[in-house]
Amino acid sequence: MAVSAYDPQNIFAKILRGEIPCNKVFEDDHVLAFHDIAPQAPTHILVIPKGAYTSYDDFAANASDAEIIAYTRAIGKIAAAAGVVEDGYRLIANTRDHGRQDVPHLHVHIIGGKKLGLMLP
Ligand code: IMP
Repeated sequence: MAVSAYDPQNIFAKILRGEIPCNKVFEDDHVLAFHDIAPQAPTHILVIPKGAYTSYDDFAANASDAEIIAYTRAIGKIAAAAGVVEDGYRLIANTRDHGRQDVPHLHVHIIGGKKLGLMLP
């Protein structure tokens, strides 16, 4: 299957380059996390790798082990720092067209802070 190339003009690439602002909650060498601009719940944080990966499949295939470990651990740490672990939360990685991914830079949504609705296709 043809995979589209990474678009360096996507909005999260611009956030990573500091060209547009974000409401940052976490940053390290591999990861940036910020509040979603249109939150769907009291907690709605987006976690992105700093590398140029279009989506989860691209990241899983092409990121280094260090990037994957840092990203996975950061998602857990950010959820804990947001205070949603005890009551629970949802991780979402919308992927490509059928997955309704709007921004073509991998991002995991951390959504919580209330009892969420059932997720149906
Ligand atoms: P997707 O549908 O999984 O690609 O989700 C993209 C998310 O990015 C949506 O929840 C948007 O509200 C969010 N978003 C778009 N632009 C910005 C921004 O500039 N800052 C923070 N969140 C954004």
